[in-house]
Amino acid sequence: MQQYEYKTKNSEETAQFAERLARFLKPGDVIALEGDLGAGKTTFTKGLAKGLEIKRTVNSPTFTIIKEYRGRLPLYHMDVYRVADSMEDLGFDEYFEGDGVTVVEWAHLIEEQLPEELLTIFIYREEEDNRRLVLEPKGERYQQLCKEIFS
Ligand code: ADP
Ligand code: MG
Repeated sequence: MQQYEYKTKNSEETAQFAERLARFLKPGDVIALEGDLGAGKTTFTKGLAKGLEIKRTVNSPTFTIIKEYRGRLPLYHMDVYRVADSMEDLGFDEYFEGDGVTVVEWAHLIEEQLPEELLTIFIYREEEDNRRLVLEPKGERYQQLCKEIFS
């Protein structure tokens, strides 16, 4: 599987990369975000929201699991950290198949419920504020998306 890498030196650069990526997104796109606590998943999502022309402040939905925002496309922002051990079906499908863009923090925790095709972005902490973003596209749509972003 082809991977793409992008390095950032501070939170602004991570947000800016996400903002640029957002311009290429289409209805029904799903992005899985992986990385430790404090890696930058929510920071990335804030930048993505800006790129989707969302005016409201995006905050971590840790306690609410899902938050919806209106922009150029709707954004469904999920943080499934707390639903980890419940196999409860929270109706994620409706979001994945909806007209918006879905971003899932800690996506692997609901692995069985994820769509087959998606873009996974791993965020690795390096020294100080450096982060390494690794993009792993699954399926034709996301391979194409990565080519567009990195061209
Ligand atoms: P997560 O959602 O993965 O738990 P957050 O985005 O909430 O992480 O927090 C990331 C923290 O790391 C923020 O305080 C942010 O300012 C800081 N940070 C420092 N450098 C970076 C970077 N290069 N990219 C993203 N966040 C960074
Ligand atoms: Mg977070």
